[in-house]
Amino acid sequence: MTTSSLPRVVADGPLAPAILTMTEGQIDWLPWQVAIEGSATPVDAVYTYGHPRVDGPLLDRLPGLRVISNYGVGVDHIDLKAAAERGLPVGNTPGILDGATADMGFSLLLASARRVVEGDRYARSPEFTVYDPGYMLGREVHGSTLGIIGLGRIGRQVARRARGFDMMVLYHNRKPAADLDPALAARYVSFDELLAASDYVMLTAPLTPETRGLINAAALKKMKRTATLINIARGPVVDTAALTEALSAGQIAGAALDVTDPEPLPRNHPLLQMPNVVIAPHLGSATIETRQKMAEMSIRNLLAGLRGEKLPYQVV
Ligand code: NAP
Repeated sequence: MTTSSLPRVVADGPLAPAILTMTEGQIDWLPWQVAIEGSATPVDAVYTYGHPRVDGPLLDRLPGLRVISNYGVGVDHIDLKAAAERGLPVGNTPGILDGATADMGFSLLLASARRVVEGDRYARSPEFTVYDPGYMLGREVHGSTLGIIGLGRIGRQVARRARGFDMMVLYHNRKPAADLDPALAARYVSFDELLAASDYVMLTAPLTPETRGLINAAALKKMKRTATLINIARGPVVDTAALTEALSAGQIAGAALDVTDPEPLPRNHPLLQMPNVVIAPHLGSATIETRQKMAEMSIRNLLAGLRGEKLPYQVV
């Protein structure tokens, strides 16, 4: 048996080769099983790479922890209060993934509006034998109204893209954003007004107790019948059963989802059968460049925490 004097870090791998290279000779990586079962030998840190739940009982199974580093900006899977109570700093990777995530939001919006995924399936199928000017008519993007719920870092990048598409931009946060670039021309409206006026409703708010189930049956009823819901935030911001029902009943026109609840959806879920639903497997920040930056930031947080220093990007 080999023993190492390196800091011991549990991660819900498999970790990308870049992360392993970056930490070579500095970290003794342990499998997530250790976090589930606990360890007699002290563990120094938790590195959350996917979105496993990190709560008080898990932290108590790992006495000796000094830091929690999250690969990503959303920390809804980490009990921040439990971490703070145990004096554990939590790091994340804000800012560097805004452009990539907004690009994904816009890809989904465009794909849904212009039926790109449906069209791709049809174009490959034996049924496509002749061009028909009457098939697969989509909805206009330019000149339409986009409502952004959660105009923060990612939401503002979405709004910038919307300007380029000549869209009107509405937004709703808990309060109007104080430092908004006037060039975005994003207008603050109430939640209900946003739902009633938007052709596209895009979710970019964090998952919190307040936003869990924010888009429920009542909210979906307030949307236009021609509207599309785009979720690039977190699955549970939308009530999946209510969305399924609204789409079946034709209460809204379509949905484009980067995230779902549960994630993944059961393979026989009705949403997966609907042609007016576009689904991606949580690809918001999934570009080569952004994932590299996320790796660098999260490892800087991890190593700083292990040295007992303030994390460069600290949530609590
Ligand atoms: P951010 O800068 O903190 O922005 C979040 C915005 O949401 C803020 O403007 C905030 O404004 C607003 N907000 C918070 N609670 C709200 C509520 N109850 N109702 C309406 N608005 C509310 O965060 P970000 O960096 O843009 O990231 C946002 C989220 O995107 C993350 O938490 C993460 O879950 C998700 N995300 C997803 C992917 C993906 O792969 N799909 C990638 C990255 C991030 P107020 O505080 O004024 O309300």
